[in-house]
Amino acid sequence: MKIIQTLTLRGPNYWSIRRNKLIVMRLDLEDLAEKPSNEIPGFYEGLVEVMPSLIEHFCAPGHRGGFLKRVKEGTYMGHIIEHIALELQELTGMPVGFGRTRETSTPGVYNVVYEYVDEQAGRYAGRAAVRLCQSIVDRGTYAQEDLAQDLTDLRDLKANSALGPSTETIVTEAEARKIPWMTLSARAMVQLGYGVHQKRIQATLSNLSGILGVELACDKEGTKTMLQDSGIPVPKGTTIQFFEDLENAIEDVGGFPIVIKPLDGNHGRGITIDINSWDHAEEAYDFASKESKTRSVIIERYYKGSDHRLLVVNGKLVAVSQRIPAHVIGDNKHTIEELIEITNQDPNRGEGHDNVLTKITVDKTSLSVLERQGYSLNSILAKGEIAYLRATANLSTGGIAIDRTDDIHPENVWIAERVAKVIGLDIAGIDVVTPDITRPLREMDGVIVEVNAAPGFRMHVAPSQGLSRNVAAPVLDMLFPPGTPSRIPILAVTGTNGKTTTTRLTAHIYRQTGKVVGYTTTDGIYLGEYLVEKGDNTGPFSANVILKDPTVEVAVLETARGGILRSGLAFDTCDVGIVLNVAADHLGLGDINTIEQMAKVKSVIAEVVHPDGYAILNADDPLVSAMAERVKAKVAYFSMSPDNPIIENHLRRGGLAAVYENGYLSILEGHQTLRIEEAANIPMTMGGMAPFMIANALAACLATFAQGVDIEMIRQGVRTFKASVNQTPGRMNLFNLGDYHALVDYAHNPAGYEAVGGFVRNWKGERLGVVGGPGDRRDEDLILLGKIAAQVFNRIIVKEDDDRRGRDRGEVADLIIKGIVQENSQIEYEAILDETEAIEVGLNRVNRGGLVVIFPESVTRAISLIQKRNPISDDNL
Ligand code: ATP
Ligand code: ATP
Ligand code: MG
Ligand code: MG
Repeated sequence: MKIIQTLTLRGPNYWSIRRNKLIVMRLDLEDLAEKPSNEIPGFYEGLVEVMPSLIEHFCAPGHRGGFLKRVKEGTYMGHIIEHIALELQELTGMPVGFGRTRETSTPGVYNVVYEYVDEQAGRYAGRAAVRLCQSIVDRGTYAQEDLAQDLTDLRDLKANSALGPSTETIVTEAEARKIPWMTLSARAMVQLGYGVHQKRIQATLSNLSGILGVELACDKEGTKTMLQDSGIPVPKGTTIQFFEDLENAIEDVGGFPIVIKPLDGNHGRGITIDINSWDHAEEAYDFASKESKTRSVIIERYYKGSDHRLLVVNGKLVAVSQRIPAHVIGDNKHTIEELIEITNQDPNRGEGHDNVLTKITVDKTSLSVLERQGYSLNSILAKGEIAYLRATANLSTGGIAIDRTDDIHPENVWIAERVAKVIGLDIAGIDVVTPDITRPLREMDGVIVEVNAAPGFRMHVAPSQGLSRNVAAPVLDMLFPPGTPSRIPILAVTGTNGKTTTTRLTAHIYRQTGKVVGYTTTDGIYLGEYLVEKGDNTGPFSANVILKDPTVEVAVLETARGGILRSGLAFDTCDVGIVLNVAADHLGLGDINTIEQMAKVKSVIAEVVHPDGYAILNADDPLVSAMAERVKAKVAYFSMSPDNPIIENHLRRGGLAAVYENGYLSILEGHQTLRIEEAANIPMTMGGMAPFMIANALAACLATFAQGVDIEMIRQGVRTFKASVNQTPGRMNLFNLGDYHALVDYAHNPAGYEAVGGFVRNWKGERLGVVGGPGDRRDEDLILLGKIAAQVFNRIIVKEDDDRRGRDRGEVADLIIKGIVQENSQIEYEAILDETEAIEVGLNRVNRGGLVVIFPESVTRAISLIQKRNPISDDNL
């Protein structure tokens, strides 16, 4: 077996609209192509032995053991690999379920599609599944240690690339609220929402966190002073920079017991608490001083009690957690060292911040903490006796957290909320030391020891004891108060032909409303009237440039087949999805071989429209109108004829449509007709002579109308939209050369030829075609181009592209000529393979009043050849 290609899909896609995170592995089964699992001796037994948990996979039979039954009875390797890739992820804590395996048109080659949680882990799972199966085929088994290694690697991949635990809680809550989010490439920032409505977070800092508040919280001394000035209880203390001042400082705070800590520390580094002797103080001073960049050390009175974290979000206390330092509890049997090992076996304890709890580590600090309690690692504690391994209660050094949100005294709530305001933090973690949080601090001699910006959420969401608190909810309530939007309207445009034109027109109409419109096309990415980036920008990356932009109020996105197949859509849902047409082009690429499969690719755009939005479908294209069945949204149709039965039916049921009637582009709703404008007054339709342009305009008008754009604005939009050579090179560029006209169009597939033909047929004089076609299309497509040319033109010059895309010189021309002759053996034609020469000959020979239609490989070259002849204007009729 050989993996040919692995794609990572991140949005709605060809395989599933709902399952956005999919790996598509193109797999060549090679010698196993002809061998179902029942014909491989020992395969079933080997698989069951290596991965007994596969018993849980239901598969087609729909019951426990269903999948293994299929393996026993015989199924193909691609299907088995799909299930193993899923199971490997399940076994490493990544819940997945969706999988599909489908043949391609290449014998023995399959697309194995399966869900992932983490991209890297997902791709790894596919490779490991292939390895595992190959080994069972070859040797009847897969070594236990290899499987164990795979599982470890998978867990590591997941841990390394996952968001931090606090960020994770916020995006999970965002997902539950259908607020879109994406990671930004810098500083681990996450964007919530789109365009102008976006908000940002970085761990638990938000874009509302003020720089002054954050900096003040990081300055312990400043924080204490501010709180003290507000009458809030803080530890009595003083800061010193020289050892000589230590003695006085201790006296100042009222003598032992004291705490010594670095002025600019965090995570409990450099802190010694409950110091009762001069010797210990000396040692603690050195320890703290070393940890401080400025060699500044805080000397504080030691306050009895336990550590509490009070979380205030947007002015309200939302959670309280009591934290207990890393400790073990005696059982009269095991040594402290053994007890630590037993405690660390808790699966909830991991390394660093990955897990709910962190493993207890034995180091110098823990040994000295033990020593001060009169223990060593070998001591055996009496039953119930507690030995602490840390003086401070950080979770990251093995501490535990107990939820006390429901127990805190109201006066303490009031203090906490005031503290957050005084410091100026939208999200504040307030550290309180008090023997009893259920009683007022003042009564208990409790103090606020610190205020943290960007406090961790882990202890509140997954406390070791007590209730879990959804502390992400108030954060999202703050960022997106009820009733405020997080999304901007997204209008997506797809189809075989006319996407760019329709996208541009839709954006142009929308801009009449004064909104900032961001749009992407095959020509580039645009914001309002400005070009952001030139080039083919119809994939998810370009769409994200628009959705990330903080100025964008409306997004109009040309969405091409390539991006949908390669990585899925950039957005989970949209407001309007336009499907213009589905024609035979690009077939045979990306395992899309039939026009029906192509229709399924394009229908992704219609299917992702949310239920309140509109799918805008072409009623004249049966493959497009049929998409209505799969759409969750409302449907609106456009058609070149008001008599189209689908339109009639739709209107009878009160539906919305746009049609071309009596020379007008009109919106129809039930019995109502709203005339937008006469085609003759819409420049892009070339005085109404280019029918396909009318169709594109109908789609754009309907889309903007469905979005509530005023009809007057739509009218103004279509009147002022000019498809000039500069704006849309290669799209119906008509030049007046005095005695004759020339038209340059980039049509390169039969549907495009037909479309342009719709205009050419309306031409009164001679019609001369300079035609060709891309070499990578199928023979029958090129023959068809010839046939269409013979229907449309009076005279034809056949040329070839410079880039022959794998064919011999003359091959494409021969096929086109074959089509011409089949259609009309009387027609005058000649082959001039060089494109420049062919164009020159065409322009020189056309009769007075005639039209030369050029389908060039290079639009710029063709246009410059024409421009040399000084056209009178390049405006449309
Ligand atoms: P972290 O990053 O975990 O917040 P830190 O390095 O910022 O730690 P502090 O928050 O000042 O340091 O102190 C850590 C812990 O030490 C406190 O949460 C508290 O348990 C204890 N502590 C600090 N000062 C005192 C004090 N004056 N009296 C009693 N305990 C104290
Ligand atoms: P691409 O796939 O190259 O991005 P596109 O779908 O964006 O193409 P446009 O750039 O708008 O399409 O138009 C390209 C050509 O396709 C036009 O010049 C015309 O020949 C043809 N065309 C445009 N609209 C239609 C239509 N509605 N039906 C058929 N052909 C069309
Ligand atoms: Mg602290
Ligand atoms: Mg395009």
